[in-house]
Amino acid sequence: MFTKILIANRGEIACRIIRTCRQFGIRTVAVYSDADAKAQHVKQADEAIHVGGSIPSESYLCGDKIIEAAKKTGAQAIHPGYGFLSENADFAEAVEAAGIRFIGPKANSMRKMGSKAGAKDLMSTHGVPVVPGYTGENQEPAYLFQEADRIQYPLMIKAAHGGGGKGMRIVRSSGEFLANLESCQREAKNAFGRDRVLLEKYIEQPRHIEIQVFADSHGNTIHLNERECSAQRRYQKVIEESPSPFLTGERRKQMGDAAVQAAKAIDYVNAGTVEFIVGADGDFYFMEINTRLQVEHPVTEMVTGLDLVEWQLRVASGEKLPLVQSEIQTKGHAIEVRLYAEDPEKNFLPGSGRLEKLHLPAPSKNVRIDAGVVEGDTVSIFYDPMIAKLIVWDEDRPRALAQLQ
Ligand code: ADP
Repeated sequence: MFTKILIANRGEIACRIIRTCRQFGIRTVAVYSDADAKAQHVKQADEAIHVGGSIPSESYLCGDKIIEAAKKTGAQAIHPGYGFLSENADFAEAVEAAGIRFIGPKANSMRKMGSKAGAKDLMSTHGVPVVPGYTGENQEPAYLFQEADRIQYPLMIKAAHGGGGKGMRIVRSSGEFLANLESCQREAKNAFGRDRVLLEKYIEQPRHIEIQVFADSHGNTIHLNERECSAQRRYQKVIEESPSPFLTGERRKQMGDAAVQAAKAIDYVNAGTVEFIVGADGDFYFMEINTRLQVEHPVTEMVTGLDLVEWQLRVASGEKLPLVQSEIQTKGHAIEVRLYAEDPEKNFLPGSGRLEKLHLPAPSKNVRIDAGVVEGDTVSIFYDPMIAKLIVWDEDRPRALAQLQ
């Protein structure tokens, strides 16, 4: 096991990783920007290194400076958290090239999941079900229009290199196709620098159900059941729970098997999430693999009683997975909500400023709070305005909902 690691992140996830490290006597190095000089993750870590200006491109996205900080402090590994550099294959490669362990998958696995179109193509060749559609290179509007007619309506146009819920259009009839294609391509070009799109059948009343997978470097790959993330705003998750109230035991097993197959298809190592879209009839289709720890990982921890960051550290240091598939058990029901600084009078635009009052419930066996701030801290304009995650657990869903309320 490592004795010292660097955390290339901030906020609640940096604090959460520090918590596990403490428990195992692993020393932690934080990195921080100008705006974060007094942030909780800086206070909680054993050491902290200033890496640059407040804008992420001057600090948390500067791979070179972060690797430099790891070398200087003698950190043996880097945990990227989520967001920032966590899914950046070049960074993962540069870390390993510097003789430091990257706590996550290999760069090559990440690259295979870099484009939505490439990921879908790869998965379908490995027998993982994908949403029927068009993922080809020909991007001529007239050709795409023809493909759309073949797929039939309603359908979705998606930016092939998209993410974060951006660059997606639902098209309900052929008369609306070309206008939507043009606006989707424009948005994709602006947000992701590339305007390539893919088309896929629109799944009515879609459910977003994802499977947590874990693999070690000894060839073992397992899953830790599902999280249901269907409650979304602007295609982004706001409430997540486990187990899914929709899945039968049989469907859970099929999806778990498909997720393990998907992970194996890209030689996956460490924690990952295989996202599926599920139709009202229960048919499920692969959407993407998130090659990192997810924001919503605590619901899995609450129902399995496992510490996923501990597993990430063990696997990255070369150990085998602590459990085999048949030993994974879940108990009760967990729900997570994300608490944001937003202005409801301005259409929920991100808010910023000093947290004058912040009262959070006391942690217990039923209540978990993952926060990166305390009362008196400032939510800055530079980063995600999430204040904390509230996660509750109880014996069943109605009781968990009551805890949440
Ligand atoms: P992003 O990478 O931007 O988060 P995803 O491809 O993961 O985008 O999709 C985000 C959400 O959009 C999904 O969770 C789902 O709610 C909805 N969605 C995506 N694809 C489809 C589809 N084919 N049919 C219906 N809804 C979809």
